Amino acid sequence: MSDCLFCKIAAGEVSCTEVFSSENLIAFRDIAPQAPTHILVIPRMHISGLSNLTNDQENLAGELLTTAVQIAAEEGLDPAGYRFVINNGEDGGQIVAHLHLHILGGRPMAWPPG
Ligand code: 5GP
Ligand code: ZN
Repeated sequence: MSDCLFCKIAAGEVSCTEVFSSENLIAFRDIAPQAPTHILVIPRMHISGLSNLTNDQENLAGELLTTAVQIAAEEGLDPAGYRFVINNGEDGGQIVAHLHLHILGGRPMAWPPG
């Protein structure tokens, strides 16, 4: 998707502070962190959001989750804990229409979320 910000980040056309890169995924620090650690993990492939995941992308979805767990550990968020968030659609608070998982940590998280 030529007009997608996160596709441009994945392609290296928009700069980011990268923390992880693999064949299928890239992770980078959020530009407006909502916690001391705030990282976004995205598939390199353009998927607009959770609603657009297809059954044949099960492996990719699993990789997204397990990679985020690995990054959280590498960022030192264990054993204190952390939160993963995937906003989906307008009511879900999704702004960027390219699937991304937020890793938030480094402070206690409130519940319920806003
Ligand atoms: P959403 O609300 O769609 O779940 O989250 C989008 C996230 O992308 C927000 O936390 C926002 O701060 C982050 N973001 C938006 N533009 C950029 C950017 O150009 N670079 C980085 N690193 N993060 C961005
Ligand atoms: Zn995209």
